[in-house]
Amino acid sequence: MSGISEQRQTEATIKEETVKIVRSVESETRRAPSEWFTGTVWMEAAPAGSSPDVGVFRVSFEPGARTNWHTHPEGQILHVIAGAGRAATEGGPVTEIKTGDVVYFAPNEKHWHGAASDAFMVHLAINPAANSDGGTAWLEPVSDEQYEENAQPAPSRASRPTG
Ligand code: MN
Repeated sequence: MSGISEQRQTEATIKEETVKIVRSVESETRRAPSEWFTGTVWMEAAPAGSSPDVGVFRVSFEPGARTNWHTHPEGQILHVIAGAGRAATEGGPVTEIKTGDVVYFAPNEKHWHGAASDAFMVHLAINPAANSDGGTAWLEPVSDEQYEENAQPAPSRASRPTG
């Protein structure tokens, strides 16, 4: 009993005090399951257990592809690293998102995210998991009507206020 807890303590100490690099060859590119996504979506995740407090995923959406509606127990941060896409929360407008945009969803806020209809979109998804397993609660698909609804254009650099 104490042997196991000593071993766990040693592992925890190692995690906190040494760098850890998960090489790309250790990651797996997987097609995102069709019961949770519309269209073709590819996901890469660091192997489970690489960090106890956060899940980090790189997700690539083909044009028109998007998640189902869903929630995250501790919220989610998206950093768009390529292309153009759309995101919406329940009751809110569909908003365009572009490379460099960062999106924050609150804990248990119902939402979806995906590519634009005519462009790929790649984002990093950061799912905090300090007080839960961080697991996504998957809901119904985003209909074509919901996907197409009133997309609000993302501000362009030229229209940003100066000074
Ligand atoms: Mn999400």
